[in-house]
Amino acid sequence: MILYRLLIVVATLLVMEVAVTLFHRHVMHGFGWGWHASHHHSGKKPVWEKNDLYAVVFTGATILLFALGDKHAPLWWVAFGITLYGLLYGILHDVIIHRRLPFKWKPRNAYLQRLMTAHYLHHAVKTRENGVSFGFLYAPPPDKIRAQLRRNGPRR
Ligand SMILES: [Zn+2]
Ligand SMILES: [Zn+2]
Repeated sequence: MILYRLLIVVATLLVMEVAVTLFHRHVMHGFGWGWHASHHHSGKKPVWEKNDLYAVVFTGATILLFALGDKHAPLWWVAFGITLYGLLYGILHDVIIHRRLPFKWKPRNAYLQRLMTAHYLHHAVKTRENGVSFGFLYAPPPDKIRAQLRRNGPRR
């Protein structure tokens, strides 16, 4: 039983990464740009960004899923997997990469450094279009992202 639950959690993490990548590329850099643009502005960021509304919506949806999962056991573990993904995302993206807490830690780990480089390259593009590297827990090699940036042409 425990193995089955673990499997659901791991599968949920994988599906979340794909879903988040697609959502970021097509919704946040699509019709949802109005909320996400604040996250691509350069310069000092305010304590709360409009982009944080995405986190509020996703947290609400996950709470609902937990409530539903109370009656349908596998769903509860899906909700647990989504929460775990959210936590990982929050720690990596908001604390380590964007330093939103007064806490400085520069990871030496090669995987984490690659994630950070990929995300900084994502932020190099300030516009809705021509973005690169939309994923999160998986990042392509930085050289590939840089080549894609060059192909996309000069930054506006
Ligand atoms: Zn973005
Ligand atoms: Zn970011």
